[in-house]
Amino acid sequence: MSNNLQVEAGGMLTVALAEVEGQLNEVIKEVRRLRTKVRFLEEENKRLRTVIVSAEQGDGGHSQLLQLYNEGFHICPPHFARVRGGEGCLFCESFLEKKGLKPNG
Ligand SMILES: [Zn+2]
Repeated sequence: MSNNLQVEAGGMLTVALAEVEGQLNEVIKEVRRLRTKVRFLEEENKRLRTVIVSAEQGDGGHSQLLQLYNEGFHICPPHFARVRGGEGCLFCESFLEKKGLKPNG
């Protein structure tokens, strides 16, 4: 009888441990996902800094602004560096026009 109880308790413990292990695996997966995301954001941040610095330094930034725009980001002051997606933006277009630049397409 007590032997059976021990077996049962052991079985429950095994199940509980398996659950904890499963949850840990989920946490590890999430940490990996976040680490990848952080790395991506750090690289993007570095790239945007470069663009901003060269834009501040004068003419050299124009081609990089245009590149940024063509990569799908806003370069207009109100939405600068936000994802533009496939949509056109009147602010961006008039900004490019003022700089004498032409977007792709
Ligand atoms: Zn824009």
